Amino acid sequence: MNKKFDAIVVGARCAGSPTAMLLARQGYRVLLVDRATFPSDTVSTHILHPLGVSTLSRWGLLDRLTATGCPPIHTYTFDFGPFTIAGSPGTPAAPLAYCPRRTILDKLLVDAAAESGAEVREGFAVDQVLIEDGCVVGIRGRSKQGGSIVEHADIVVGADGRHSVVAEAVRPEHYDDKPPLLAGYYTYWSGLPMEGRFEQYIREHRGLAAVATHDDQTLVIAGWPYAEFTENKKDIEGNYRRTIELAPMFADRLRGARQEARFAGTAVPNYFRKPYGPGWVLVGDAGYNKDFITAQGIMDAFRHAELCAVALAAVFSGTRSFEDAMGDYHHARDAQVKAMYEFTCLLATLEPPPPDMQQLFGAIHGNQKAMDGFARLNAGTTSPAEFFAPENVDAIMAAAASSSHKGAAHAG
Ligand SMILES: Cc1cc2nc3c(=O)[nH]c(=O)nc-3n(C[C@H](O)[C@H](O)[C@H](O)COP(=O)(O)OP(=O)(O)OC[C@H]3O[C@@H](n4cnc5c(N)ncnc54)[C@H](O)[C@@H]3O)c2cc1C
Repeated sequence: MNKKFDAIVVGARCAGSPTAMLLARQGYRVLLVDRATFPSDTVSTHILHPLGVSTLSRWGLLDRLTATGCPPIHTYTFDFGPFTIAGSPGTPAAPLAYCPRRTILDKLLVDAAAESGAEVREGFAVDQVLIEDGCVVGIRGRSKQGGSIVEHADIVVGADGRHSVVAEAVRPEHYDDKPPLLAGYYTYWSGLPMEGRFEQYIREHRGLAAVATHDDQTLVIAGWPYAEFTENKKDIEGNYRRTIELAPMFADRLRGARQEARFAGTAVPNYFRKPYGPGWVLVGDAGYNKDFITAQGIMDAFRHAELCAVALAAVFSGTRSFEDAMGDYHHARDAQVKAMYEFTCLLATLEPPPPDMQQLFGAIHGNQKAMDGFARLNAGTTSPAEFFAPENVDAIMAAAASSSHKGAAHAG
């Protein structure tokens, strides 16, 4: 068998292009294929939290993104109706988030993979994953010009999203599955300045968020529980507008803006898949997926591409066995995201928080250190385990009690 490649990566967006790029940078022979051509859009909003931005910076790609004129985001706000929490989502080393259009971000990533030496085939659809004696050995696909093409490699990487053809072929173990919880729809507006804020509005059984992106446009997404998905699909615009009216001051601002695109949106399932087996690995949404309410997907795809590429390089160089290296990748991926996965699924129900959580949110309000902590929690900068640790919660509650005590003393 003529094996031209160490790895074939199927899917060339946030997970696939970085995996291909990082392997190619180490001199491995990589074929990166996608049935899409770039630049092209996909159904996804595109907040990139500060830790995702710092990953781009580590790869030497952040300057390319900022050169596209993507506006930086320095503050996340959470409007609960009676009060708003506003804080900084990042760290001193990585303070900013961005919300780059996928047409721009994904193209930048594919180009970086090609520059690093990966062979890139756009407009190439994989129809079949080739398996011999229980081991994946390659792919069969076709380019837009037609004609079936077979390629072989030591490893086939499924970076091909939620409907992964690689996962479908290898049937990996699933765990911690949860059904879709939320339906979200978004569009873009001009004339809606955001001044560096990512604004989120939390209402009973409804959520709303707004953030500036390329071309002086602002992305506005509205969401409702998945139980209403089918019914509300009959009138997406009406439901979107009624959700916006739940935040009257924001609705007033939107009245002065102009809608620039059609509505897009969906609902997604939540799952983990075992991300490796004989001759194959999964990265990005192909390997695990969660609701978009906390906007973790792109950042996670970046970080897991990095973990996956490190593990594969150790296998290709002969320093580690496939089972050991990929077992560590699996473990590190899950350890990094598990607590956030549970928190995300909780938020995605759009149920009012339990009373103790409501009390905590009230206590966070007005305490800048705690508000920064809350913004970092939602950005995935701080883990839920750290934020909800009893010492942190107790400190926030004590600070609130002491300031209301002082307030009462002043009033007296
Ligand atoms: C409504 C919505 C809003 C979201 N908002 C955010 C957000 O604000 N921030 C955030 O971080 N994440 C967000 N996400 C999640 C984010 O979009 C994903 O986590 C991210 O796109 C995953 O990247 P990926 O590379 O794994 O997969 P994808 O982006 O799905 O890319 C998979 C690629 O594989 C290709 N492919 C598939 N099958 C084949 C085949 N057979 N042959 C060849 N190519 C194939 C596809 O063409 C595609 O280009 C959102 C998701 C949704 C649905």
